Amino acid sequence: MTDIIAIPDALLPRDGRFGSGPSKVSDAQLKALVDSQPGVLGTSHRQAPVKGLVRDVRAMLGELYALPEGYEVILGNGGSTMFWDAAAFSLVRERAQHCAFGEFGSKFAKATDLAPHLGASSIRTAPGGAAVLPEAEDGIDVYAWPHNETSTGVAVPVLRPAGIRDALTVVDATSAAGGIEVDIAQADVYYFAPQKSFASDGGLWLAIVSPAAIARIEEIAASGRWIPESLSLKVALDNSRADQTLNTPAVATLVMMRAQLEWMLAGGGLGFAAGRSARSSGTLYDWAARTEWAEAFVTDPGLRSPVVATIDLHPRVDSAELRRHLRAQGVVDIDPYRKLGRNQVRVGVYPAVDPEDVESLVQCMDYLVERLLT
Ligand SMILES: *Cc1c(COP(=O)(O)O)cnc(C)c1O
Repeated sequence: MTDIIAIPDALLPRDGRFGSGPSKVSDAQLKALVDSQPGVLGTSHRQAPVKGLVRDVRAMLGELYALPEGYEVILGNGGSTMFWDAAAFSLVRERAQHCAFGEFGSKFAKATDLAPHLGASSIRTAPGGAAVLPEAEDGIDVYAWPHNETSTGVAVPVLRPAGIRDALTVVDATSAAGGIEVDIAQADVYYFAPQKSFASDGGLWLAIVSPAAIARIEEIAASGRWIPESLSLKVALDNSRADQTLNTPAVATLVMMRAQLEWMLAGGGLGFAAGRSARSSGTLYDWAARTEWAEAFVTDPGLRSPVVATIDLHPRVDSAELRRHLRAQGVVDIDPYRKLGRNQVRVGVYPAVDPEDVESLVQCMDYLVERLLT
């Protein structure tokens, strides 16, 4: 520890967790977990207490997104990665178009592209830090893109492309949901996981689905296509309507998710939650703009993510060295996405993160770099 440059206590954030996922869990969520003992934790997910918990999570998400008529919230086990496989089985009729401008968009594109029962996917790509949007194309029945590409810190609009007829829009909102405002009617499927803006743990997927998406799920289920039960969205739909999951869910994850939804709704809803993230990321982008050795990685200000800020550092400032000093003092997980391979910090500023802690983080980085450069 002797070679660690000590940051004065007054500069340190009260909470130093800035990960992009898993992300900071709040004390109130932990308290909710303690309070759920023994009534909920360790009890059957087929009985009223856990079913009530699932019902609450579904209802609160409905409230947070002011769901249009006929939209429903469904859920299942396996996280967003599993949802990609479920989508390949239960949403894509013949062929999907994907926008891939980072790790996560690319992974979903690969999942449908390699599925033997589907045609080769149409994959629109852009380099890391840039973006590409979906565009109407013949023979495409699903248009898929990430609302927020967590690997690069790029956020794009959620807008149904013109002229796509009855094709579905399927939006990866894993890191956006709960932290970025959206017109949900533009998405037929808006799916996410609890470990990012909802500050809970991983392992579940949740999806807001439109009437058209529900009709598609039912159409494909009735078509005779072989679908593994664990990847069937029809099975997930039927279970969700009964406030159930096909197999055992992580009850603690649901308890922490409900607590975060309560906090968001009590604060005023999605505008409140998104406002906190916008303020935090604004602090980082403003700092990068005025700091000689830092620069926003995403050059188009309109694409800069409000929930995951990626900041390139000047070659003279070694990101790994800076992060080593921060981590030793409890300021953690601002590593760049590993495959991006840049001299960068990537800061997760989901709603649970206190905007004042982000101001402290900036001061800590200034303090360290001033001393590391001499
Ligand atoms: C984190 C993330 C995923 C993967 O989520 P898992 O629940 O770990 O499968 C997918 N897409 C995006 C945009 C993400 O940020």
